[in-house]
Amino acid sequence: MRGNVPAYELIAARSLEHALSIVGDEWRPFAGGTDLMVLFEAGKLQHKQFVSIWGLPELKGIDVTPEAITLGALTTYTEVQRHPELSKEFPLLARAASETGGIATQNRGTLGGNIVNASPAADSPPALLVYDAELELVSAAGVRRVPYNTFHTGYKRMVLRPDELVARIRLPRRHKGWADYYRKVGTRRAQAISKVCLAGAILRQGVRIAGIRIALGSVAPTVVRCYETERSLRDDPENIGAAKAALSREIAPIDDIRSTANYRLRVAANLLEEFVQTG
Ligand SMILES: Cc1cc2nc3c(=O)[nH]c(=O)nc-3n(C[C@H](O)[C@H](O)[C@H](O)COP(=O)(O)OP(=O)(O)OC[C@H]3O[C@@H](n4cnc5c(N)ncnc54)[C@H](O)[C@@H]3O)c2cc1C
Repeated sequence: MRGNVPAYELIAARSLEHALSIVGDEWRPFAGGTDLMVLFEAGKLQHKQFVSIWGLPELKGIDVTPEAITLGALTTYTEVQRHPELSKEFPLLARAASETGGIATQNRGTLGGNIVNASPAADSPPALLVYDAELELVSAAGVRRVPYNTFHTGYKRMVLRPDELVARIRLPRRHKGWADYYRKVGTRRAQAISKVCLAGAILRQGVRIAGIRIALGSVAPTVVRCYETERSLRDDPENIGAAKAALSREIAPIDDIRSTANYRLRVAANLLEEFVQTG
């Protein structure tokens, strides 16, 4: 304690094993720090002890196999955009990365941090939902894999235990032919938190929709994958009215400083229509 200023501690993990022996209720992980430092500057950072995982090679790198592209949790937005296979095959993620903050944030902010910060307005999670991402969680007790669509359980709540780290994010590789759509609606084009964000992918076979995935941000306590809306469009591709009705049942937007529930509902429905018409 210095005067009235509370003391914070930040130590650097020497290895993944070292980090896993420390993280828990008291020592929290510190990755790029782009969310944590904002809280710190605002005097709202509740935890006092942090272990930096930034230097851990086990949590870095992008691996490409015939089945999947797997990203270390420390992968930054800049690395996402620069990776040729990733940005070509998973364009929604590259697009989300390019619309996340400015260059400095993109160089330092990580996907793992974005996931665990668990903002319903975060930009990458809708893309991860559309791509059926799977998370690898690691602790001193071992590794477990969790489908990303089951990770968030409520506003800022998730299945991650305090002694666990997100280690990797696995994206199963898709067959060709999907059309992808991503639109973030905010106050301005860059450096804005979204009012509504829709990520979608559609696979058409003639007039039939053979596959469809839709996920939204900023319209519920967590990012949401809209399975009912997807089903409605698969069953009746022409009936956009039914799909919009399904969407309005699946999302629960609120009024807040950035927008109103009504506006969000209307914009979400408009984005859905644009996605179906252009995809
Ligand atoms: C100016 C500015 C603009 C921004 N704009 C956007 C934007 O447009 N869109 C957007 O989505 N976000 C935005 N952000 C938020 C932020 O950059 C992202 O959420 C970023 O991805 C967080 O990653 P980080 O590594 O910096 O996380 P940190 O700040 O290091 O950590 C965030 C949280 O995640 C936990 N954590 C981090 N890594 C792990 C891990 N591997 N395992 C377990 N827990 C972990 C930490 O304990 C902490 O609770 C912005 C931030 C700033 C400062």
